Amino acid sequence: MKIMISACLAGENCKYNGGSNRSEKVLQLMKDNEVITVCPEQMGGLPTPRVPSEIRDGVVTARDGRIVDKEFRLGAAKCLEIAMREQPDLIVLQSRSPSCGVKQRYDGTFTGTLVDGAGVTAKLLMENGFRCIDVEDLTV
Ligand code: SF4
Repeated sequence: MKIMISACLAGENCKYNGGSNRSEKVLQLMKDNEVITVCPEQMGGLPTPRVPSEIRDGVVTARDGRIVDKEFRLGAAKCLEIAMREQPDLIVLQSRSPSCGVKQRYDGTFTGTLVDGAGVTAKLLMENGFRCIDVEDLTV
């Protein structure tokens, strides 16, 4: 099976705080499958570490108030381009990220409040017919 994965789940230090979301379940998956890793926020031109962002009224906004919607959407478009080319059977993404979250994301108030809805990249991939799941829902 060919699987696209949020790079931070594979142990890459591409998370906003310079760390990763290394997942043993994902590392296990990587042993038996062909894997493509992507980090849409880095691919959109944002640095690591970076100020965390949330989606506020449909616009991706950093905690310091800077609008980073363009960067997030560029990263999402690049991920879609890769997915179109590679045609992964499954895409496993980091839960609750404003880019990668599949089922939930934070509400834009930076208070830890969750709302239903996907991050920018996950939404674009799903709108284009790709099967995406949150890493939390992965059963290996
Ligand atoms: S954008 Fe996605 S891959 Fe990159 S650090 Fe955030 S959750 Fe991980």
